[in-house]
Amino acid sequence: MTTATSLEDRAARADAEDPLAPLAGRFLLPEGVIYLDGNSLGPLPAAVPPALADAVGRQWGTDLINSWNDNGWWQAPLRIGDTIGRLVGAAPGQTVAGDSTSVQLFTALGAATALRPGRPLLVTDPGHFPTDRYLADAVARRHDGMEVCRVPPADLEPFLAGHGSRVAAVSYSPVDFRTGELYDMAALTEATHRAGALAVWDLCHAAGAMPLRLDALEVDLAVGCGYKFLNGGPGAPAWLYAARRHHDALDTPLTGWNGHAHPFAMHRDYTPAPGIARARIGTPPILSLLALEAALTVFEDVDLSELRAKSLSLTDFFLTCADELLTPLGITPVTPRDPARRAGHVALRHPHAHGLTRALADRGVVIDMRAPDLLRFGVNALYTTHTELLTAARHLRAVVRESAYDPAPPRSGPVT
Ligand SMILES: *Cc1c(COP(=O)(O)O)cnc(C)c1O
Repeated sequence: MTTATSLEDRAARADAEDPLAPLAGRFLLPEGVIYLDGNSLGPLPAAVPPALADAVGRQWGTDLINSWNDNGWWQAPLRIGDTIGRLVGAAPGQTVAGDSTSVQLFTALGAATALRPGRPLLVTDPGHFPTDRYLADAVARRHDGMEVCRVPPADLEPFLAGHGSRVAAVSYSPVDFRTGELYDMAALTEATHRAGALAVWDLCHAAGAMPLRLDALEVDLAVGCGYKFLNGGPGAPAWLYAARRHHDALDTPLTGWNGHAHPFAMHRDYTPAPGIARARIGTPPILSLLALEAALTVFEDVDLSELRAKSLSLTDFFLTCADELLTPLGITPVTPRDPARRAGHVALRHPHAHGLTRALADRGVVIDMRAPDLLRFGVNALYTTHTELLTAARHLRAVVRESAYDPAPPRSGPVT
């Protein structure tokens, strides 16, 4: 029991010394649940229910259509874009919130390829999230002669040495959504620029989890979702960043009337609005935007470097728990040990990942899995504690030792 006791002591000490511990009070987390799936759906911030009640009851219910002006609905995509911009190192006026990540990716990839005419290659990661891969293919299909090259981030430099002058854009995520591996955004962006190509980043698993420096790295375009580490709620609006230097030439593929220079003049032809406003598409989802805006107040006085330091402490501690309690049972960590290469979740490999995920849920530990054999434990330094991670590891150890799970593979259908 000495090992178990020392893990317990370590967890208790880290939690007692945690300056961010009070932030958990900004969330409405259900009693008796250890929530380690905030990298798929962030939990409910306490600020959201009253904001939504106001948006529905007063703004929509009473002020009705005047709310577009009087309650700031029309400006919401740009206002909330700027709030997200502060979390990703973007100065105001370069970020717009709205639509889904998939739509924003189509916009970003379409705009990037249009900014680099005559370059027929679009580079993406073979391990990229499926929608990112599908949309790269869709954009290439719409350009004569354009080809998608699937190049793992580790192979980008040699690939660009051979083909760089033909590459229009490189579209990566800094985080492997399966393993939690973190790539070097600065180095990959720099290599992309040396080849004269544009860097398009998908920050779904990074925004709100760690400091990001879009302006400082001279990233060209970026997208991210609102419902993972930003906690904006199911299907929350996504966001798009376009560096200011590209605005005048930014030719987005979805030229909706909200992105027009004079939307209410109802002109026959499209003239893009100046600045990032041209990346607006259609009427924005106001209720979802206002929920996201309230959720983002959680970050108002939070230092993202402190958040990142705690996140690394949590994932490091969980890897230690895994080494001591789980590896002897055949559950192996796949997430890198090097903090510079580790993002906000830890993945453990076991052939019965599906059954184990279900058994943990029955014990109040919510995680998710990625087929066929990865268990994902998402930590969020805003509310996760070291003690919760030790408890989760102990539950997993007990479930495996007692064979208290169904080893059958999942039936088809949606899996969380
Ligand atoms: C979560 C995630 C998405 C999700 O796309 P949606 O359009 O919001 O469903 C896309 N890309 C990455 C890298 C993700 O992690």
